[in-house]
Amino acid sequence: MSRSAHPAGPRHADVLPEGHYSAPAADLNALDEKVWSRTVTRDADGALTVGGITVARLAEGFGTPAYFLDESDFRARCRAWADAFGPDADVFYAGKAFLSRAVVRWLTEEGLNLDVCSGGELTTALDAGMPAERIAFHGNNKTVAEIERAVAAGVGRIVLDSFQEIVRVAHIAQRHGVRQRVQIRVTVGVEAHTHEFIATAHEDQKFGIALADGQAAEAVRRALSLDGLDLIGVHSHIGSQIFDMAGFEVSARRVVQLLAEIRDEHGVELPEIDLGGGLGIAYTSDDDPREPHEIAKALSDIVTRECEAAKLRTPRISVEPGRAIVGPTAFTLYEVGTIKPLEGLRTYVSVDGGMSDNIRTALYDAEYSVALVSRTSDAEPMLVRVVGKHCESGDIVVKDAFLPADLAPGDLIAVPATGAYCRSMASNYNHALRPPVVAVRDGEARVIVRRETEEDLLRLDVG
Ligand SMILES: *Cc1c(COP(=O)(O)O)cnc(C)c1O
Repeated sequence: MSRSAHPAGPRHADVLPEGHYSAPAADLNALDEKVWSRTVTRDADGALTVGGITVARLAEGFGTPAYFLDESDFRARCRAWADAFGPDADVFYAGKAFLSRAVVRWLTEEGLNLDVCSGGELTTALDAGMPAERIAFHGNNKTVAEIERAVAAGVGRIVLDSFQEIVRVAHIAQRHGVRQRVQIRVTVGVEAHTHEFIATAHEDQKFGIALADGQAAEAVRRALSLDGLDLIGVHSHIGSQIFDMAGFEVSARRVVQLLAEIRDEHGVELPEIDLGGGLGIAYTSDDDPREPHEIAKALSDIVTRECEAAKLRTPRISVEPGRAIVGPTAFTLYEVGTIKPLEGLRTYVSVDGGMSDNIRTALYDAEYSVALVSRTSDAEPMLVRVVGKHCESGDIVVKDAFLPADLAPGDLIAVPATGAYCRSMASNYNHALRPPVVAVRDGEARVIVRRETEEDLLRLDVG
């Protein structure tokens, strides 16, 4: 994407620097429904409301910075994914995107399954009542203690990620007197990000067991030979924030090819394949994500076609969306602090959070949008960089965006689509207090993860 359009018209139009930004929206007050959760709208006074509550009331009740999660949107997205894939497939929500006990209860009620990849995520899932058989346990370096707990709890599947782990899980399962259902995570040689994918023969990464060189086939051989393991299928996860289905197509083709090889060698048709997560969402108006039903149809068409060609029974498909479910359901609300116009460059707008509540911009150059939400404004657009309050010049929340030129300290601004990988990756850098997550639904707001306090900091610091 080349996005260095020099917008016509706005202030500084002749001095705008090169950058990675689109022209300002015609109306900065408009809220693009692609990037905001479903119940977000502006009220008659121009203030943003979610679940029927204005941001002024939310800021007063819960402070800033804070994440506000639109519960009915979350539940609607769960249902859309479950309905799209239907009864013959399984949707596992990837808990690492954002997990809390309330979220686990919503998932349980809406019929989704859950991926976890640490003892902490497993504890949260079990504590909030997710049935163990609906949990999948992932990770490239599960500890023996974590495997013990997962097996003892009776998780529905453990996704094996190395030769050592195949043996480890088998021993632990035998010790517990069970046959643990497992999948083998294979790396199919597809790396997919956003609008591009790369198909290679080899993969240079820590996850999974390579299809290339027959490594995956050897892993299957070993798993099938061990009494403690019930090998139910093969797993592939190819990347994140993906819009183009072509990467999934290559991945599915290679996975089905492996199933055919397994049938030829061992006479067994593994009943399941998992195609992972990584489906993209709209962070800005330039992103055009696909709907769950389109994704479901595309994946099931590919698998059906490849299986017909290989004369295999079509396996049960599972998918693992994290970001695509929770990402669009939340926004981060900040209060504007200092504002520094740098003539000929851009205006730096500092907020009361930053890289401690959203590391994605610093970590992966992620793009976000931002809006003035405590009021509307007819002022002309100004090019801004929204930055945090941390001691790091890379502490950027939104790299390039437009906000009204009359922006002032005390205004509330919001960054949409921060439901995934923001609170879950939040840190205490500079002894920041990690923000709360507040669920909003039908005129009611309740804290589901409370704000950290200075007492929390001192409690961990045992002197
Ligand atoms: C991270 C991850 C996911 C979820 O990715 P999203 O981009 O949030 O959809 C699913 N499966 C596996 C194995 C992952 O590592």
